[in-house]
Amino acid sequence: MGDHRQGADIRVITFDLDNTLWDVEPTLLRAEQAQQQWLRQHRPGAVDAYDHEALWAFKKSVWKRHPELTHHVSRMRIQMLYELQLAAGYSEADAGDGARQAFAVFLEERHRVSLYEEALVVLRGLASRYSLGALTNGNADIYKTDAGEYFDFAFLAEEVGAAKPHPDMFTAALRQAGVAAHQIVHVGDDPDHDIRGAREAGMHTVWMNSRGKPWPDLPRADCEIDNLRQLPQAIASLAGG
Ligand SMILES: [Mg+2]
Repeated sequence: MGDHRQGADIRVITFDLDNTLWDVEPTLLRAEQAQQQWLRQHRPGAVDAYDHEALWAFKKSVWKRHPELTHHVSRMRIQMLYELQLAAGYSEADAGDGARQAFAVFLEERHRVSLYEEALVVLRGLASRYSLGALTNGNADIYKTDAGEYFDFAFLAEEVGAAKPHPDMFTAALRQAGVAAHQIVHVGDDPDHDIRGAREAGMHTVWMNSRGKPWPDLPRADCEIDNLRQLPQAIASLAGG
């Protein structure tokens, strides 16, 4: 940990994305729907027989059989789409082609996120003083959002080959930013992935708790906010300002 009492020399702010800069659930729901609609139209029989529970069970069986894809959310989804079509009797070629196309439809919708209404003005202000980075375990692309112009770098777990709280994600940010860990503040909603992970990497931490959740049995974040508007003040307090 940096020494907070002396006032930290903060240079870089890294952000988790899903449920930190936007609510992810509505986007995921829309993306899933678009993907299912593509399958129903172009691969009849591939998903029609599954209700929500059955589809979930099918997904879990794919995860279980492909532990090597755990941190590769995109490849895992493509594998699931492929196997769904094989199970419905499509050829390997059709299933492979269909998996790529259905995934492309999913991803296009997945990138259509709605930033929290205060996000842009807060990020613009912070970007004038700090380098900003994105660290996500999901497959969202910050550069496909209106906030992209404020970000200097972004790492996806599936590119790094490890997901937060694994130190590799935080090390990737440290290397890219070229600063010491105590000059970085990481902001995220997940107590374990974001706060524990960043703390253990030696970074400062801000817990974004927009849903009023209780803090679990872990060392606390340096600051807690429930709206991004509070972030500049939280960072100023870390810097002793
Ligand atoms: Mg998150």
